[in-house]
Amino acid sequence: MAIAVIDAWSPNYNSRSGATIDCIVIHDTESDTAAAALSWFESPDSQVSAHYVIDRDGTIYRCVADELRAWHAGSSEFAGRTNVNDFSLGIELVGFATGPYTDAQIDVLVELCVDRCLTYPAITVARIVGHSDIATPPGRKTDPGPHFPWDAMRARVQAELDRRLA
Ligand SMILES: [Zn+2]
Repeated sequence: MAIAVIDAWSPNYNSRSGATIDCIVIHDTESDTAAAALSWFESPDSQVSAHYVIDRDGTIYRCVADELRAWHAGSSEFAGRTNVNDFSLGIELVGFATGPYTDAQIDVLVELCVDRCLTYPAITVARIVGHSDIATPPGRKTDPGPHFPWDAMRARVQAELDRRLA
């Protein structure tokens, strides 16, 4: 991808078993720093990971390759299908569901989502969702929380896709 990323590989992944990547799940790390989230993902004991972590300054860390199944969604369902990890990319924003995100984080997230939508055309803007939207049972997760700018983010991603695909 054209976006600069720093590799911080996690051992916590397995095969997608042939599933097509067709959605993006947005999370927050519930940690103050990228280092805390990355060291958790790097630990085999945690049994959790995501494909990308976006720090407050916009730095992107890549923890699991897109083609592999990261462990971020847990018990989940989207559009009638369970095990959302099978067919999604997980993106974590450093921070808390209770606190605001930085402009740099959202700018980079938009860029990353555009890039991934172009790479995996089955991901449409309507299929960029929050962990709270897909976690089961409903209410199990609150991230990315009320400060996440859904309307603005989706509009920016769609506008950029329209521009690039014109
Ligand atoms: Zn989450």
